[in-house]
Amino acid sequence: MAYDTNNIFAKMLRGEIPAIKVYEDDHTLAFMDIMPQADGHTLVIPKEEAETIFDLSDEGAAAWMSSVRKVGAAVKKAFNAPGVVVFQLNGKGAGQTVPHVHFHVIPGSIADLRKP
Ligand code: 5GP
Repeated sequence: MAYDTNNIFAKMLRGEIPAIKVYEDDHTLAFMDIMPQADGHTLVIPKEEAETIFDLSDEGAAAWMSSVRKVGAAVKKAFNAPGVVVFQLNGKGAGQTVPHVHFHVIPGSIADLRKP
């Protein structure tokens, strides 16, 4: 499917809407989730226009994963967390709501996220 240049993360990348940025380099941006599932819930996105992992170049994917590792380590340290949950969704059918590919990075345990 064609990339929607009006999605909220694309607007963030263009500076059209605000973001609480925690990391940025030439290829990626990380910012706080507006509706965090836990304190420190961060989103990491590639700057490349891609809706899912299947639309991303190998180079873009490598740079993105490098940033996920950096942000994940920083978040773990900042929140003194026992672990870090990292996940992402591909396509509406998987439950993806923003059509610009992103990793969720959440300090803590999956057990806490599964609590009702
Ligand atoms: P998805 O369900 O697509 O995997 O996750 C989308 C995430 O983007 C959700 O966790 C949601 O809270 C977050 N989100 C949606 N709109 C905004 C926004 O305008 N700003 C920020 N910082 N996060 C957003």
